Amino acid sequence: MSIKTDLLIVGAGPFGLSMSAYAKHLNIDYIIVGRPMEFWKNNMPAGMRLRSGPDRHLDPLSEHTLIKFLQLKNINSHNASPLPIKLYLGYTEWFRKGKKIDPINEYIARLDYQSDCEYRFIAHLESGDVIEARFVILAIGFGYFKNIPENLIANLPDEKYSHTADFTEFSGLKSKNCIIVGGRQSAFESALLIKEAGAKKIYIVHRHKTPKFTQSDWSWVTPLLGRMIEQPDYYLKLSEQDKDDINKRFWQEGRLKLESWLKSVEKNKDIDIYEETNITWVDITREGQIKAALGDGAELTADHLIFATGYKVNIANLPFLNTGNILDRLQTNNGFPKLRFNFESSIEGLYFTSLTATSDFGAFFGFTVSCNASSVIIGNAIAQAISKS
Ligand SMILES: Cc1cc2nc3c(=O)[nH]c(=O)nc-3n(C[C@H](O)[C@H](O)[C@H](O)COP(=O)(O)OP(=O)(O)OC[C@H]3O[C@@H](n4cnc5c(N)ncnc54)[C@H](O)[C@@H]3O)c2cc1C
Repeated sequence: MSIKTDLLIVGAGPFGLSMSAYAKHLNIDYIIVGRPMEFWKNNMPAGMRLRSGPDRHLDPLSEHTLIKFLQLKNINSHNASPLPIKLYLGYTEWFRKGKKIDPINEYIARLDYQSDCEYRFIAHLESGDVIEARFVILAIGFGYFKNIPENLIANLPDEKYSHTADFTEFSGLKSKNCIIVGGRQSAFESALLIKEAGAKKIYIVHRHKTPKFTQSDWSWVTPLLGRMIEQPDYYLKLSEQDKDDINKRFWQEGRLKLESWLKSVEKNKDIDIYEETNITWVDITREGQIKAALGDGAELTADHLIFATGYKVNIANLPFLNTGNILDRLQTNNGFPKLRFNFESSIEGLYFTSLTATSDFGAFFGFTVSCNASSVIIGNAIAQAISKS
């Protein structure tokens, strides 16, 4: 089957769903492809609680808000913080159905560009179906960019280590020991959940000081995004110093602080924190135990090594770009696509958002707080381009 559309949205996570709602509002003919909220369902622990509060919703029109969903469920939003992931997934499904968004529930296997055609993008789906589109938005999130330090896994069999995104079910660690590399939110939240699942001993190791367990202040991000909606080149035109200051502030709130409800990690006698040190080598014993040496001389023994080492964008990791002809033409900077005004890449009609837009538009585009700004800025730009053509 071959279909033509004005806009192809790739990804059905928070950014793709929000974008679809806005495209529908603008009467843009669109198709969305992706598995609804797949990353949140499969790559985050079922017991996770969100960092973002009930005020963060996906609706650029502010109709299907999270607070409204909670009200319909008779849940007081003050009692819903921190928000359990199950409740958030309930919200996103209610949002999707309320907005009548029906993603094609599969993957794009290959994306190509042809400059001399009206429908200049050709997407081949895994099923063999083909979509021809005039504009494409890639909202593919974090999943392709897992960061694992190569030097620490050189001596380990695959089954002895995991990235947090691939380790969301913890019953296998019952009565066992594990080492968690990393010292931000996911390291500490994983430690608590793993302990709750019955692990014996957990060691958390990080190079930096342990962040403070205190409330982050995100109040300044919403006005900033509001400025960007009013004036889409606002952030791009800021001086490098101003951008650095904004990203530094984001870092201080997001990375130097941990949610206060994680504080019990510090008091748990079965969780040891090794701060301001690093793992210098890792090996496996004949009995199948992991041995890890730390820079400060300590040595740890465990059954499993978990990397809470975050994500590093490299656009060449996207399999559907690798198989097509786009990567050769796409301008990049340090692994990120170079984006200009309105999130458009160096290929006309191809837009990137979410984590892949953080280099040019700020670190907050890695979080759902930016969904609505992303949808409005990109949606308006595409609607204008369609009306001119
Ligand atoms: C552990 C963890 C906790 C987090 N907690 C929070 C939080 O509390 N609050 C917050 O605001 N943010 C949080 N974030 C960040 C949040 O995950 C991202 O902001 C958000 O998921 C990005 O949304 P997205 O729509 O870009 O992509 P994702 O949610 O990652 O979804 C990706 C989509 O792309 C689809 N896809 C992938 N490949 C293809 C393909 N080839 N073809 C078609 N579709 C494809 C998938 O099926 C999926 O639908 C957290 C991140 C992590 C890792």
